[in-house]
Amino acid sequence: MYNFSDISSCDPQLAAAISSEIARQRDTIELIASENFVSKAVMAAMGSPLTNKYAEGYPQKRYYGGCQMVDIAENLAINRAKQLFNAEHANVQPHSGAQANMAVYFACLQPNDLIMGMNLSHGGHLTHGSPVTISGTYYKVVDYGVSKNTGTIDYDEMRKIALKNRPKMIVCGASAYPRKIDFAIIRQIADEIDAYVLADVAHIAGLIVTGNHQNSVPHAHFTTSTTHKTLRGPRGGLILTSNGYAKMIDKALFPGIQGGPLMHVIAAKAVAFHEAAQDSFKVYINQVLKNAKSLAESLLSHGFNLVSGGTDNHLMLVDLQNINITGKEAETRLDLVGCTCNKNTIPFDPKSPFVTSGIRLGTPAVTSRGLKEEDMQVVANIIALTLRDNDVSGARRLVGSLTEKYPFEGE
Ligand SMILES: *Cc1c(COP(=O)(O)O)cnc(C)c1O
Repeated sequence: MYNFSDISSCDPQLAAAISSEIARQRDTIELIASENFVSKAVMAAMGSPLTNKYAEGYPQKRYYGGCQMVDIAENLAINRAKQLFNAEHANVQPHSGAQANMAVYFACLQPNDLIMGMNLSHGGHLTHGSPVTISGTYYKVVDYGVSKNTGTIDYDEMRKIALKNRPKMIVCGASAYPRKIDFAIIRQIADEIDAYVLADVAHIAGLIVTGNHQNSVPHAHFTTSTTHKTLRGPRGGLILTSNGYAKMIDKALFPGIQGGPLMHVIAAKAVAFHEAAQDSFKVYINQVLKNAKSLAESLLSHGFNLVSGGTDNHLMLVDLQNINITGKEAETRLDLVGCTCNKNTIPFDPKSPFVTSGIRLGTPAVTSRGLKEEDMQVVANIIALTLRDNDVSGARRLVGSLTEKYPFEGE
């Protein structure tokens, strides 16, 4: 339908940048926990002529003519999302995870209302109340975090903070939390103070739909997610709720905070939700989890420390303090050997968010590429050679062996 030569003949400068990015993806080991590689079908839907269509509104209630076909696409996405998450209502129009959260806030809160979110440096997300975002500017914020001893969410402490401050909404879900989250307990706490629960499952959506993590939908008033992390769909967002809140969420998203929906991306979401309902996706997520366990155990055996001692999901946080290297330096050094990850604060981090004492590693992308448990031992070896032994050429050789063993199919 559309291919790369269409870009290179029209715009060689941009084509060169895309070519180089494809080569980068081909030649590196991708350990960023929030990234993934989409299927060819998802990619094709994103590059389809649905991008040409204006469709403000919702299926059968549009502000433009000619929406019959994009209505089919959006209804497929909605119905598949509802089925996957067992939700009564789905809005598939958020352009991103941040937009999905913003819509929920706009639907439920007035400026200066109090929200309670997870501390950013304990694993929370910027959109859960950070002062540099609209969430921390328009709303007052109180935070909760993990316990210093265990590195896991302290629900007793969370309850105390909630009862003392009485927020209007408790925001849960995380970007850098390696353990399971108990949405049922959080709902109990919220009910004591009559607060809403927003569960942002951006990272763990793929685990939820395959039964590998408690589903937030029966417990939270609102569930938001990205579609491009463990769910392996196009870059975008999603809101799930019950019928009672459907209208106010839809109104808050459009016309509240967004204009025309990205129909090509919504079509790609429909494809991704279809893929996520297959048995092969269960096999994929199971492998993501096995790979994370394998990587965590191998890193521990090399003498690395992990926040909370390990992982229950697709990611882990390496606490680098015992090897005297900052997260920033580790990220740079790993980049040089062809291993991509991100620096990340660890709970109670003495260093700034620009330096940090940790790195975050995740297995969704390498698992999509085909890597298995035994390969994760090689990845741990690469990390040890790079950060501990300063053996750059040895590490590079091992990266090459893995990228050759699993040819990149994302072109
Ligand atoms: C990634 C993430 C988001 C934001 O998603 P974008 O699509 O980048 O806006 C929101 N919440 C959590 C918990 C995330 O991990």
